[in-house]
This record gives sequence, structure tokens and C-alpha cells, in this order.
Amino acid sequence: MSYWRGIIHKYREFLPVEDSTPVITLCEGNTPLIYAENLARTIGFKGDLFLKYEGLNPTGSFKDRGMTMAISKAVEAGKKAVICASTGNTSASAAAYAAKAGLKAFVLLPKGAVALGKLSQAVMYGAKVIAIQGNFDDALYIVRKIGETMPVEIVNSLNPYRIEGQKTGAFEICDALGRSPDYHFIPVGNAGNITAYWKGYKDYKRAGKIESLPRMMGWQAEGAAPIVKGYPIKNPQTIATAIKIGNPYSWQPALQAVHESKGLIDAVSDEEILHAYKLVASTEGIFCEPASAASVAGLIKLTREGFFKGKEVVVCILTGNGLKDPDTAMKVCEQPITLPPDVEKVAEVIHL
Ligand SMILES: *Cc1c(COP(=O)(O)O)cnc(C)c1O
Repeated sequence: MSYWRGIIHKYREFLPVEDSTPVITLCEGNTPLIYAENLARTIGFKGDLFLKYEGLNPTGSFKDRGMTMAISKAVEAGKKAVICASTGNTSASAAAYAAKAGLKAFVLLPKGAVALGKLSQAVMYGAKVIAIQGNFDDALYIVRKIGETMPVEIVNSLNPYRIEGQKTGAFEICDALGRSPDYHFIPVGNAGNITAYWKGYKDYKRAGKIESLPRMMGWQAEGAAPIVKGYPIKNPQTIATAIKIGNPYSWQPALQAVHESKGLIDAVSDEEILHAYKLVASTEGIFCEPASAASVAGLIKLTREGFFKGKEVVVCILTGNGLKDPDTAMKVCEQPITLPPDVEKVAEVIHL
């Protein structure tokens, strides 16, 4: 049988698993790499632009790639419970994979700062949800303290198996293109994913699967841009809640990825993020969540500045699904109009 059985099955030789490792999977990965010609034309980008739509993973974000590894290894180690701090997507993913594995899941969320779709996932999958009266960084601090003293596995991206699983996104991109991209654009929050992708590209090059490496281009939100500024942000602010992080755990490895690949980490404003968010949906028919659009916002910014020569192959990672955060969509878009049940009135509006 050749049906898709998830990233561990597909990329086993590149992952720290044994034949005896129990594989807990929801068939994550195998997400589409979409040629985005309309978006490229609209923003004046002359090269080849691809969007890796990670919002089509089982719980709607790339976190599932890391979670299948983290949960499988937790089961292998005999753990009975997992815990994480989350801006929403990690909790949704941890809760789902824990449900599949029969583990208890505890998730700590910054109160009032998690999109409703993500919160509803965590509760539906049966996690114990604890809202912390603080921000993500406060929640992660508590999780790390509890992980030191209680018999519970931390499944945040400080768990090295998360990074291992997430690097398979790079494998899929290279498998699809038959090469590596020239530039890899990606949103940066806790900075685990940029770290993971860089590791994936390097692993693939070492294995002889690709000849060159992409430049890693990371994007933070202006109000939550500690890596760009060079110091932790006490009270990070951005509409893009999935990257609303003031003191990223993988700060150093992210800087190393950027340094080794001759890339960069820069910031985009909430306005630029929302513009990109709407453009991806209206030109390509792809609904991503606001944080995801930071990668495209970065591409728009550099294109406008004349950064590209015109023949580059660029991949932007769309990290999560727009359906997780309908509130933001309804706030930034044209509102539906209400009319009486009257053919004439409707025809007036359609006006073709
Ligand atoms: C987690 C997440 C990010 C940030 O990824 P990091 O690994 O924390 O840098 C970006 N977008 C979405 C949708 C996410 O869920």
C-alpha cells in the first residue's frame, strides 16, 4: 500500500527513530507547494514564487510535523502526560496527538491572546487548558519549571524532537522542486521553525539530495521583534498572535541559520502583515492565519526595495490555517451586506 502515512514513515532514515519506536501519527505533512503566479504578478515579483501551505496539516498548522515526533518519543519513553505553553497552535497539536496516543495533555495559554479556533481545538481534543494571566513567555517559564520537577514531557520546541519533525518541511520542498529554493521566507516567533528548516536543508545537502542551500529569511512582527532589536521584549504586541513572543527559545540557532545561510531576520508591521494576509487569500484563494502572512509581507517589502534580480526561486511558508482565526478576518475585510429578499435589490448590488 502506498497511501500517505505521515512524516516519520516517509523520512524515517533522517529521523531519530528506531524500528521499535511507536509511531503516533495523524498523517501530517505532504502539504501542497503551490505556484503563486497571481500573487507574484500582483506584488511585482519576477522570479518563481511558491507557497508551502502548512495550514493543511491535520490540526491546521506546521506544529503537527514536530508533534508526531515529540509524542511518539514520549510514548517510547513511557511518559504518561505532556505539557506545553502555547500561543494556540502548539496546544491544538499537542492535544490532538496526545489524544491519539492516550496521553494526558496540559496546555498553558496566555489569557485572552489565543485565537478562538485554536482554543476550541485544545478543549475538543480533551486537553486540560490553563489560561495564564500573563503572556506566552510567562507561560513557557512555568512549563519549564514544572517540567523539571514533575513526570511530564515538555512538547514545546525546546523539545529537540519537535525540531527534528519540523525539518521534514524542507525535505518536501526539495522533493517537490527537485532542488532547494534560492530563498526561504518564514515567520519567526519562538524561532524553532526557522531552526528546523535550516537543519532540514543541511541534512538533505549532506545526503546528496540537493546541491545548494537557500538563504533563510525570517520575519518577526514589529511589536514582537526581539531578534531584530537584539534584546527581549517585555510586553510584545502584534495582531499576529502566533508570533507574539518576546524572548524566543531558539534565538541563537535562528541567528546561526541566518548567519550560515547569508540570510536575514527583519520585521514587518501589523499593517504589512494584514495587507499580505488579504492578498494571499484574494489572489491565490489561500486562507492563512495572520502570523503566516509575515513571510509574504517580508517578500513584498524586499521586492519593493528592489532586492531581487528576477530569476530567483522563492518559497514562503504559510504556517497555519486562516480558519483558526475568523475574528481577525472579519475585522479586516469588507463586511457582508444585508438585503431584503428582493431580486431587484440584489441585482443592483451585483451590477454586472
Ligand atoms: C508557531 C507558529 C509560528 C512561529 O513558529 P516558531 O517556530 O515559534 O518561530 C508561526 N506561525 C504559526 C501559524 C505558528 O503556529
